[in-house]
Amino acid sequence: MAASLIYDSRLSELTTLLALWDEPGYRATQVWQGLYQHFWDSPEQFTNLPVHLRQKLAGEFCFAPLHPVTILTSSDHQTVKTLFNLMDGQAIETVLMHYKERRTICISTQVGCAMGCVFCATGQMGFKRNLSSGEIVAQVLYYARLFREEGAGITNVVVMGMGEPFHNYENTMEAVDRLNDTDGFSLGARRFTVSTVGLIPAILRFTREKRQINLAISLHAADDTLRASMLPINNAYPIDDLLAACHDYVRTTRRRITFEWALVNGINDTPEQAHLLAGKLKGLLCHVNAIPLNPTKGYSGEATTKSHANAFKQILNGYHIPCTIRLRRGIDIQAGCGQLASNEINK
Ligand code: SF4
Repeated sequence: MAASLIYDSRLSELTTLLALWDEPGYRATQVWQGLYQHFWDSPEQFTNLPVHLRQKLAGEFCFAPLHPVTILTSSDHQTVKTLFNLMDGQAIETVLMHYKERRTICISTQVGCAMGCVFCATGQMGFKRNLSSGEIVAQVLYYARLFREEGAGITNVVVMGMGEPFHNYENTMEAVDRLNDTDGFSLGARRFTVSTVGLIPAILRFTREKRQINLAISLHAADDTLRASMLPINNAYPIDDLLAACHDYVRTTRRRITFEWALVNGINDTPEQAHLLAGKLKGLLCHVNAIPLNPTKGYSGEATTKSHANAFKQILNGYHIPCTIRLRRGIDIQAGCGQLASNEINK
């Protein structure tokens, strides 16, 4: 039988297991701190544990589920993308972005994605499987390990890589909780941003749970016809219903919501779309993150122009809606979600 992944275990589960092995109560905490504070990824590194326990852990668990197969660094050295093979041979991507003092990791929650957004390389790949909570956690620990060698740490985690996080809600939130645990990795909840294409039932659940994690919605279009042509999920959850859920979120949590908008030349970067969007977002505590499209092989749309992007922003600002035009990061290393993995699969 294949060993289970140690990062899939909660501290309470490790405590129960080690008690069954007749180990003293403090051993589980030692294991937990080894994993989440020292970032050890091999039983031999746990030199504070007796040899027999290290051997038992090695027999029971896998400590290194991610095997980096391709690492690409952008020409400005600010973005690093890693393609990992998982234990079953599937591939996922994780992206590191340096921005001023920030070191942000963009992590994946699924292999492939079922949402089928037309401009997205992961969507073009189709859905393979959910990642376990441990596979999600391990992506962050991988980079934490690298940074520790430089005496630095991860400042932010964005759950915007391959997959729809709310389509794998339990494992995603379990992973965030584990990374948030003050006895372990201890990254504050507000350092996390989870992005969804708009699965309304999950948004309502997220709202009820009153998590302190930031919420981003991939909107990309301001009318149902255009949005459904870009994001098929809009057929199930139309814009007005989605925005009603967003209003509920902001009212309940008093937190600002972010809308993501991939600017496609001549499609959704037009003054008409900007005015329509402004009308839809009226009265909502929000911010619009617009970013020129990262082109993919399976979609003919092109990135917006600088003048279209600026005009889009000016229109929103005219309605007092904050809008930032983000720089495309890592375009030379195919840093858009799923691009590297889809190349690997399509080789
Ligand atoms: S954009 Fe996100 S939700 Fe849409 S297909 Fe890509 S990974 Fe899935």
